[in-house]
Amino acid sequence: MSTSALPGLVLRLRPLGESDLMLDLFTSAMGRITALAKGGKRSKQRFFGVLLDAHLLEMNLEPTKSPDLWRLASARVLASHLGLRQDYRRLLAAGPVLELLLRATPVQAPQEGVLELALITLSRMELGNGPAELGSALAIFLARLLALLGYGLNLEACLHCGRPVAQMQSLRLTLGGGVVCPSCPAGHRDHQVPPGLVKFLAAARALEPRPLSRLRLPAGQSPLALGFLADFWREVVGHDLPSLGLALRSLKSPATVPHTTPPRR
Ligand SMILES: [Zn+2]
Repeated sequence: MSTSALPGLVLRLRPLGESDLMLDLFTSAMGRITALAKGGKRSKQRFFGVLLDAHLLEMNLEPTKSPDLWRLASARVLASHLGLRQDYRRLLAAGPVLELLLRATPVQAPQEGVLELALITLSRMELGNGPAELGSALAIFLARLLALLGYGLNLEACLHCGRPVAQMQSLRLTLGGGVVCPSCPAGHRDHQVPPGLVKFLAAARALEPRPLSRLRLPAGQSPLALGFLADFWREVVGHDLPSLGLALRSLKSPATVPHTTPPRR
């Protein structure tokens, strides 16, 4: 059965032979899928300007002999997220959104809320200026995707002794999957965090999609939040995530580099 007008986010493009392209896509109806674009590399008319990373497409897919591979019959761009390409820092911040959908979601299994979260995140990033705003958008994505894919963090009670942590001022986040109270022994890979950060992570998980785009990290807490979430995600997927390392380094560096250098005479 072929599908018509299916929305899909382009996660990765790989050349295949002289003229074809393999696409990894994320859809709400089927989760992550792979599709072959015949002539995708060459065809100037059919796919020109359409097949690019982070594009949201409306696609018509046809089945192939392999159940894991679709053929892209036609596609048009629903959202280009062009703003990402206008600022290297935005583009680097968006990298982990695509990489995690590619590496942490199962093939052809629908994942409730995941495409919506990715699109909210990319829309915020393509307008975002400065490390604080981009860092907030990325941290929300990382925290909420954990919950959506079933790797939730325990943020209400100490992971070791079970005491509620709502009133505690000194907390640690552990790669075991949640908060640890000040009375329990420290692990060597615990991250010491302010209580505001634990509240932020809980909100990133619990809020409705709309108010999510107004949620911001408390000032100065972006490196702490992203540092812990990156370590936790590496544990979850079991290997390094290159785009996440690049995004973190870019968001940490305080210097802003101008987009263009003024012409010299
Ligand atoms: Zn405890």
